[in-house]
Amino acid sequence: MNSAYYLGRPLPGVVGETRRMCHVFPAQTGIPTRLVALCGVSFNREQLELLEGPRGMPCEPCLRSVPRPQLEVQQT
Ligand SMILES: [Zn+2]
Repeated sequence: MNSAYYLGRPLPGVVGETRRMCHVFPAQTGIPTRLVALCGVSFNREQLELLEGPRGMPCEPCLRSVPRPQLEVQQT
């Protein structure tokens, strides 16, 4: 996976169930103890489950902050 971003959402109990949205976090070398999503919310690392892909409700502010994926842009 060469994505510059990864997805994570708060574990059950960290926030209310309706706020367990899938946030986007910028990839970085090593995982710090405190992660800040693109929308500005931050979580401790142990409060998050990292996701293989989008799951559940996405965080819209996070999604809007992500540059368009380059997967569909084929350069010839
Ligand atoms: Zn977010």
